[in-house]
Amino acid sequence: MNIMKKNTVRLDDYSWEEIKHLEENGYKTIVFGIGATEQHGPSLPLQADALQADKAANIIASELPNALQAPTIRVGYSKYHMHFSGTITLRESTLQAIIEDYIDSFVHHGFSNIVIFISHGGNVPSTEKVVKSKQEQYPNTKIVYYYDQDAMTAIGELAMELQLTPAQIGTHAGHMEASLVQYYAEDLVDKNKLIEGYIGEWSEELHQKMHEMGMHTLTKNGVLGDQRGSSKEMGKKYLNVLKPVMMNYIKKKLEE
Ligand SMILES: [Zn+2]
Repeated sequence: MNIMKKNTVRLDDYSWEEIKHLEENGYKTIVFGIGATEQHGPSLPLQADALQADKAANIIASELPNALQAPTIRVGYSKYHMHFSGTITLRESTLQAIIEDYIDSFVHHGFSNIVIFISHGGNVPSTEKVVKSKQEQYPNTKIVYYYDQDAMTAIGELAMELQLTPAQIGTHAGHMEASLVQYYAEDLVDKNKLIEGYIGEWSEELHQKMHEMGMHTLTKNGVLGDQRGSSKEMGKKYLNVLKPVMMNYIKKKLEE
C-alpha cells in the first residue's frame, strides 16, 4: 500500500503531520546528500556537486523502500578551490557540526536508517569522522555513507568502451562530471567552454600539494580531466553504470 499522499520523497515537501503519519507507517529511512558550491572549470556551474548530491540522494530515497530525502547540504569543504571566483567553503568543523545536527535530528524523530551521499571528495574525511562517532553514540541506528565505493572498477570498464583514459574521465570536473551535470541540468552548462584540464600523472604527493597550495597550482582552468566530448547522453551512460553499484553498496550496508 502506498501511503504517500504526495508524489515526492522530499521530507520538506510534507507537513509535520504527514511526516508523523509516514513514520508511524514504516518510513524509517532518511537520505541526504552533501555537495559543494565550488568551481568546476569555465563551463560548469558552481552548483555541480550540490546538484549531483541532490539528484543522487533523490534516486536513493526513491529506490529504497519507505525512504525520504532530507534537504541537501549544498556547501561543503572546498578550501583548495578558493582561488577561483565564487567558491564558498565551510570550515571542516562547521561541516561536521551540520552533519552532527542532521543526524541528531533524525534520531530524535525515530529514523533508524540514515544514508548519506557525498558528491565531493573534500567532504569525505569530515563525514567519515562524524559517522564513526555518531554510530558509536547511536548503536540502534544504522548510518551509512556513500562516496564512490566500488564505482571506479565499473567506470573503468565504461572508459575502455568510450576509449577514454582514467585521467580524461577525471576526478574533478572531468568527462564524467561534465556529462553528469549536462544530464541533470544541460541549460546550466556552457558547451562552448568544455575544456581539457590537467590530465598528467596523479600521485598522493600531487593530491597533498593540491590540498595545501590550492587547485590552481595544478590546473589553471580548474579542471582535472578532459570535458571535451562530454554530453547529456554520456551522462546517462555514466549514471546507468554508477546507479546499480551505488544501490548495491548501500543496500548491502543497510542489511549488515
Ligand atoms: Zn565535482
